Amino acid sequence: MSRTVPISRQRNIGIMAHIDAGKTTTTERILFYTGVSHKIGEVHDGQAVMDWMVQEQERGITITSAATTCTWKDHRINIIDTPGHVDFTVEVERSLRVLDGAVAVFCAVAGVEPQSETVWRQADRYKVPRLAFVNKMDRTGADFFRVLEMIKERLKAKPVPLQIPIGSEENFNGIIDLIQGKALFFDDGTIVAKEYAFVDIPDEYIDEYETWRQVMLEAVAEEDEELLEKYLGGEELDPEAIINAVRLATISMKICPVLCGSAFKNKGVQPLLDSIVSYFPSPLDVTVMKGVDPQSGEEISSPCDDDLPLSALTFKLANDPYVGHLAFLRIYSGRIESGMTVINATNGKKERVGRLLRMHANKREDIKEAYAGDIVAAVGLKHASTGDTLCATDRVVMLESMDFPEPVIEVAIEPKTKADRDALSQSLAKLAKEDPSFRVKSNEETNQTLIAGMGELHLEIIVDRLTREFGVNANVGQPQVAYRETITTPIKQETRYVKQSGGRGQYAHTVLELEPQEPGGGFEFSNAIVGGVIPKEYIPAVE
Ligand code: GDP
Repeated sequence: MSRTVPISRQRNIGIMAHIDAGKTTTTERILFYTGVSHKIGEVHDGQAVMDWMVQEQERGITITSAATTCTWKDHRINIIDTPGHVDFTVEVERSLRVLDGAVAVFCAVAGVEPQSETVWRQADRYKVPRLAFVNKMDRTGADFFRVLEMIKERLKAKPVPLQIPIGSEENFNGIIDLIQGKALFFDDGTIVAKEYAFVDIPDEYIDEYETWRQVMLEAVAEEDEELLEKYLGGEELDPEAIINAVRLATISMKICPVLCGSAFKNKGVQPLLDSIVSYFPSPLDVTVMKGVDPQSGEEISSPCDDDLPLSALTFKLANDPYVGHLAFLRIYSGRIESGMTVINATNGKKERVGRLLRMHANKREDIKEAYAGDIVAAVGLKHASTGDTLCATDRVVMLESMDFPEPVIEVAIEPKTKADRDALSQSLAKLAKEDPSFRVKSNEETNQTLIAGMGELHLEIIVDRLTREFGVNANVGQPQVAYRETITTPIKQETRYVKQSGGRGQYAHTVLELEPQEPGGGFEFSNAIVGGVIPKEYIPAVE
């Protein structure tokens, strides 16, 4: 057996966005154009293929980090779902950990919103290269160029437009590709053509094209000496050379290419897919995963190489409605086979991998083996928790794991009837294993069971899952929230605050909108986003 898709043609990507920017619609259109799904389903009529959890369909929120695989122009794209709601920041973190590139979807009207900033900073921390997709270009008030400015100002990134829109709002009907020097017109959005063809740029757009092509070329050439020399020398630049320079600058996070479209109106999704395969790294292009021998503490790296022993990270556990308990794995080195015995380096247990599955949205494909760089789901692992390393029996290595913030909110929970009691504690234990930011505790004084999580919605969903998935009925009390007030603190208190919340390094549970006040006057804290990261520059080196 050998690889069906060469590693250089594989992409592990995520799609991240502020809630409502159109992440689900964009993902769903990607699955349509790549042939995974055969019909376009409206997102909120419960047919969205990624949203297979009932709660997500009802709430319109994508919660699970389920991975799905699709193919575009001989490339395999694994899409790791990243949730957009603030309560699930921890889920965003774990998906960022295993993906190699992320499409940041922005709404062309709202632009960069607070949650986009949080997710952007998390992606910075995990060094994930990004492409921006300015969606909803068809909406009243859509402004591509304003969003470009916002990406620069608010996110401190270097956005480089690779396209400009033709028309805007209800007249948005195409794009100009600044690299190819061609135009692409979309139909009225009702006919979903899978084929698309570039045409010459209409005369009335030539001036605008030339202005923006220059902006694009200058920005890319600044990051690429060879291209800069040619550009300054007035040489004709061939598209391949520009594409290559954009790819290198994107991978090294020096620039963020920006595209536009309207996922809902089926406009701009195919060029987005082209960019995903052109500009995102393959697993070979990313930093080598570090690990240690748990016995000796000796460092062992896990480069993306099929011939090395297996090392893989469990980044998500899920209950699949058809096959049961699934562990989603990112393989860093070596290969994994169905039926293989592996060691869980985190808990020392030996386990046998049952089936191996590649998920295609709501379909499952049984596979015999998978190789370094891939993302697959394993059935039958009883002892793996999120964040655990799985490795070959002849070389035990513990990969760098993920940071999970401490929960910030608690509620008391009790079984509705005596008959629910045992089932409740068993189900809670299962859920806690799946979700490292969910804890089960007991209050010794009152003898109550408490459940703790990242926000009210997080716990509501847990209680919902108890009923739906485990058939357990429970009553919950009033939430006890840690730090919900907005306070203005002098810098010194801020330090204490960070430590108080038990954060690891720069981690705090609550920080969100960190508005620097007057110098020395402290910061405004609000609890709007739980699990946010305090930017390093805000952490004073005192005490
Ligand atoms: P998510 O929360 O980021 O996953 O956003 P959804 O994909 O669920 O989209 C939120 C809402 O915006 C839904 O009602 C979509 O139909 C709508 N929407 C998504 N993309 C577009 C778009 O390109 N244009 C317009 N007008 N609406 C869109």
